[in-house]
Amino acid sequence: MRIKVNHISFSYNELQALKDISFEVDTGDMLAIIGQNGSGKSTLLKCMNRILKINQGSIEINERPLSAISPAKLSQIMAYIPQTEEARTGLTVFDTVLLGRKPYISGKPSAHDLEFVSELLFRLELEEEAMRTINTLSGGQQQRVFIARALAQQPSILLLDEPIANLDIYHQMKVMKLLRQLSAEGITVIITIHDINMAARFCNKALMLKQGTVFASGDQSVYVSANIEYLYDIEVEVVRYKDNICIMPKNL
Ligand code: ADP
Ligand code: MG
Repeated sequence: MRIKVNHISFSYNELQALKDISFEVDTGDMLAIIGQNGSGKSTLLKCMNRILKINQGSIEINERPLSAISPAKLSQIMAYIPQTEEARTGLTVFDTVLLGRKPYISGKPSAHDLEFVSELLFRLELEEEAMRTINTLSGGQQQRVFIARALAQQPSILLLDEPIANLDIYHQMKVMKLLRQLSAEGITVIITIHDINMAARFCNKALMLKQGTVFASGDQSVYVSANIEYLYDIEVEVVRYKDNICIMPKNL
């Protein structure tokens, strides 16, 4: 699905967290939102998911105003995985993922819903964990459970706030590869991410936020040292190695 964000602004009381943000993403895109802590990344995802109500501007999904989409319909279109989700519940992995089917279930889950969950657990290599309670899993396993729950919604748009922040590099690669695969399958994937090397490697688009404004956006050509230096207030060297972009901070 095509998402168009037109000149949106958002304030938490006096604090203007987003100022005049515009960008577009389309089916098959994987967008990395990057920027310093406090630059507005999480706030932007929450505005896109309508958890927060924008003060100005508009967001369109396939040319339709986001504000005109019913909550029930929105939960079938868009799934969101927040930054600080921690599994505190004693629910099993299976039941947690089944919660993602809620937009499609009236009454009891159907055989199709149960089958759908089983297939997702298989795809995300969680079938052996199906009956474990989620709070007993490692961070990497929990992240995969949350992704599975989001996919159970059969979303066309997937928003993830720092999906690899707490993972080791093996699991980071696994999650990033999965997300890229999902975007190739037609899901519009939008993530916030601190690891700019991972962002440059896996995401075909980037949106650089600085103090609530878009400083630069576009394809991988935005990963030049001048942009990164301004974005993070550090000095860097951008090295191209094989097909990778490698951003290395210089000594201060
Ligand atoms: P990021 O995700 O890029 O670290 P956030 O979107 O969380 O940034 O925050 C952007 C700005 O909004 C920051 O200045 C932050 O302190 C402020 N902010 C975030 N959440 C709230 C809130 N619930 N109430 C007030 N201010 C907030
Ligand atoms: Mg954040």
